Amino acid sequence: MKLNTRYMTRNDCYKAGRKITPKGIMIHSTATPGVMAADWFSRWNKSYQAGEINRQVCVHAFVDDNEVWQYLPWDHRGWHAGGTANNTHIGIEICEPAGFSYSGGSNMIGYDISKNEAYFRKAWQNIVEVCVMLCQRYGLTERDIICHSEGNRRGIASNHGDVMHWFPKHRESTESFRAAVRAALKNSSEPPETSATLKVGDVVEVKATSNAYYPGGAAIPDWVKTDCYHKVTQVISNGKPVVKGGKTCVLLGKKVDKKNGNESAGILTWVEKDVLKVIKTSSSKIENFSDSQKYYRVQVGVFSKKANAEVILKKLKAAGFEGYIKFE
Ligand SMILES: [Zn+2]
Repeated sequence: MKLNTRYMTRNDCYKAGRKITPKGIMIHSTATPGVMAADWFSRWNKSYQAGEINRQVCVHAFVDDNEVWQYLPWDHRGWHAGGTANNTHIGIEICEPAGFSYSGGSNMIGYDISKNEAYFRKAWQNIVEVCVMLCQRYGLTERDIICHSEGNRRGIASNHGDVMHWFPKHRESTESFRAAVRAALKNSSEPPETSATLKVGDVVEVKATSNAYYPGGAAIPDWVKTDCYHKVTQVISNGKPVVKGGKTCVLLGKKVDKKNGNESAGILTWVEKDVLKVIKTSSSKIENFSDSQKYYRVQVGVFSKKANAEVILKKLKAAGFEGYIKFE
């Protein structure tokens, strides 16, 4: 999937600047035959208030058979649903191929199914991949994806037929689309845990391929990637997630020696989750960083019943200590 990003900064929707926490994805199709994803920038990067365009509309991205163009930040409130879904859903339009017309609402006139099958499959693949990426980023599943017409039936979108006026021609439906996203999520090499569920105490590595701590942030020096691991010491600030450059960040407050696991003062920088790879989660038991290393361990008790051990572990954690149960 080729993802291009160029924000429609002249569009009133962009200027409105409202943020959302994405709870789902709404898929649309353009009902505009032959206008591809890149073409929409010049069509919609205009101000209604300045009289440059006759409608108030903006979506997060357009997809065609070749590429994806993102025109709004994913957590920016879009104007695509004609209903309350704008407050919760990322909107994505699938571009429709050339060579047919519309008459009376969503009737496709002269649409050649076999000729358009190849286009449809490629565009389908691209929007599946966008949805997989967004599900991973925002902790969503295929069940959080609906099309515009489903949104209308739920009372959260205007009365449009997309995409169910088109998908069935290629023997697909919103249901089969969700199934394709589910399958792709399962096969995805990047487990959602990597970026979506980082917790305080997790040990991470800064990916060698990353350049900046977050979009628009400072460049990452090489030693930060190579010399040590880092420990997540904070995931919220003033009760809220910390977002920089449009990305949710975590604070890396401690450095962790790769060989012996020793901790020292960290880089104390908020870093976008996507540039981090989980080495060890705080809930997993404490593994040896190197097997030959010996440690002084503090043992709190020995129990014959697991439930009793769990009670003590809970108390330990409540008091702020890390611990784990070992059966031997
Ligand atoms: Zn629509």
